[in-house]
Amino acid sequence: MRPSLPLQLCHRQGEPGHGVLVRLARRSGRLDAYRFASFLGMDARRLLNGHDVTVVAELAGLSAADVSSWSPIVDPTARLVKLRGVTLADRDWSTHSRRYCPQCLAVDVRTARAEAMESGWVVHHRAIWDVSAIQSCPDHLCPLTDVCWHCGQRQGWRSTDLCHCCRCKADLTAGPIGHHLDPVGGYIAGRMMGWGSDCSVLDALPLNDALRLCMRLGQAMRIGSVYTLPRQDRPSVRGDNYGGRLSGNYDGR
Ligand SMILES: [Zn+2]
Ligand SMILES: [Zn+2]
Repeated sequence: MRPSLPLQLCHRQGEPGHGVLVRLARRSGRLDAYRFASFLGMDARRLLNGHDVTVVAELAGLSAADVSSWSPIVDPTARLVKLRGVTLADRDWSTHSRRYCPQCLAVDVRTARAEAMESGWVVHHRAIWDVSAIQSCPDHLCPLTDVCWHCGQRQGWRSTDLCHCCRCKADLTAGPIGHHLDPVGGYIAGRMMGWGSDCSVLDALPLNDALRLCMRLGQAMRIGSVYTLPRQDRPSVRGDNYGGRLSGNYDGR
C-alpha cells in the first residue's frame, strides 16, 4: 500500500510526470527524488520513460489527464517518442540528463515570491526541455542546457532542487545568459504547445517528415542541384550547421 501524502500540488503548465515527482518530493521535504520514488513504491527511472504517470499525478492531487498530456509515450521498439501528439525519433528526446532554461526557472522563483509561496511550489520542469531537437527556450531564446554554468556538472534528476547545481550548489538562474535563435526548435515547440504557424505545408506533415523536408531543402540549397542528395547522418547535420541548414528553410514565416 502506498503512503498517503499530506501535501498536494497545483498544476503547472507543461509539467510531465517525472517533473511532478521531483516537485512533489521537494514539497515533501525530500532532497533525493529517487529515494522519494522508492518510498512511494515507484521507480523514478520508469517515470523518466513515461511510465506510472497516472500514479504520480494522483499522489500529487493532480488531474491524471493533465499530467499525461505533458508526459512522453516511449515506444522503444519503434524508437519513437510521442509527446503532445507529436511523434519524435527517440534521438530527438532524452531524459538522460535534466535540461533547463535558467530564465524560466528565474520566472518561477519570482512568481513564487510575488505570491508569497515557497519556490518549491512553483519551480517546475517543462516537458519541452526534454526534446533535444529544441535547442533554445521558445520564450526566452536562450540555449537550453543540462550543465551548471559554474562547475560544468551535468544535472540529473536525483536532486529535488531544480534551481541549484546538484554538485556545487551554484544558483542555476544566476549564470551568464546566452542568446540563440532556434527557429526550428521554436517550430517544434509551437506544434507541441498548439501555437500553430503560418507554414501550412510543414504543418500538414508529421513532424518527423517536416524536419526531414527542411533538412533536405537546406542540403539542396547548400550543394546546389544534384541528381541525388548525399545520405545524412547525425554528425553531418549536428554541429554548427545543423540549425543553420534547417533555419535556412524554416524561419518562422
Ligand atoms: Zn525560458
Ligand atoms: Zn555546479
